[in-house]
Amino acid sequence: MTDTLSPSRTSSREFTEGVPLVVEDVPRRSATERAQQLEDPGFGRYFTDSMFIARYRVGEGWVDARLTPYAPLQMDPSAAALHYAQSIFEGLKAYAQPDGSVATFRPESNAARFARSAARLAMPAVPDQAFITAVDALVDADRDWVPTGPDQTLYIRPYMLAIEPFLGVRPAHEYLFIVIASPAGAYFPRGVHPVSVYLSEDYIRAAPGGTGDVKCAGNYAASLLAQEQAIAAGCDQVVWLDAVEKRYVEEMGGMNLFFVLGSGADAELVTPELTGTLLPGITRESLITVARELGHRVTERKFSVEEWRAGVADGTVTETFACGTAAVITPVGEVKARTGDFTVGNGEPGPLTMQLRAHLLDVQHGRVADTHGWLHRVAPAS
Ligand SMILES: *Cc1c(COP(=O)(O)O)cnc(C)c1O
Repeated sequence: MTDTLSPSRTSSREFTEGVPLVVEDVPRRSATERAQQLEDPGFGRYFTDSMFIARYRVGEGWVDARLTPYAPLQMDPSAAALHYAQSIFEGLKAYAQPDGSVATFRPESNAARFARSAARLAMPAVPDQAFITAVDALVDADRDWVPTGPDQTLYIRPYMLAIEPFLGVRPAHEYLFIVIASPAGAYFPRGVHPVSVYLSEDYIRAAPGGTGDVKCAGNYAASLLAQEQAIAAGCDQVVWLDAVEKRYVEEMGGMNLFFVLGSGADAELVTPELTGTLLPGITRESLITVARELGHRVTERKFSVEEWRAGVADGTVTETFACGTAAVITPVGEVKARTGDFTVGNGEPGPLTMQLRAHLLDVQHGRVADTHGWLHRVAPAS
């Protein structure tokens, strides 16, 4: 179902130097259909009308950048990414602002991390500005898909994959950089509830020298069985330990972790330090900044399971939460492990967890002043 067709045009924008951003005719779903999907979008189920796509060939660089109708890809069955997982991604969100404009949150950090992921997987760089141009162009074109309900967002998924048809093992000579977007509902539509976690003692996520500090597709494939084990143990999420000693807490699923020591104005935060096996989350970094501004001491250091368990037992560790773009902040309640279960606090979300969560959401949704220039205006007020 379409109601409007925009004319095809070469916009005045360039994807990157000398590569024009072509804007194709994109059939638009009707306002009625869109409204139905935006009513209860869930996560990652519906996609907007357009997608951004650009091609890279060794020797030519980036070519053929366009906004085109969201549609299945055609690629050779021997495409390298399908065999050897030469594939990376990012995740960020666009937020409807109170003045009717649309903004993304710290996209330059996603661009920089994407470049680091590309380098680690021997893939070509997407210049930071080109990454941001592609995201902006898609969000602007599909701004009607940015939901405006409480805590609703448009989730944006930039990714790059090797498409050269070749089964030899070496970096491919041809790639696609694609951006798609998906409206996302509030993560906790019925109020914030702590998750239960399972300490993974059989599987590891990341080892020194591996790919744990970049967002590559293979990391997620390798995590699925541990996540299934967590679910079989009656938990919501898996918690990863360090690969060497299996002693230090690293991450929860695809999120970073924080531990609250003490309470009230003097409460301190500890978050596992970035040893090279943790993914440097943008939410993590933002929360370190916000918590310090609120007067809390924040330390990045190793944090062991023993310290967590003993701290919960003697009341030192009062709260634990995980953070990431998709969920912002998720409190952690019950912890299950072969070495014994324990529950953080009284099983309810802690006060600092909830304060930080509300504060970051307020910044992202434009309800409080953006004192760090974290919001990047994509589409003007309409
Ligand atoms: C993406 C990701 C995070 C969170 O990063 P944000 O930038 O905050 O969204 C944390 N851990 C892993 C393993 C991730 O892939």
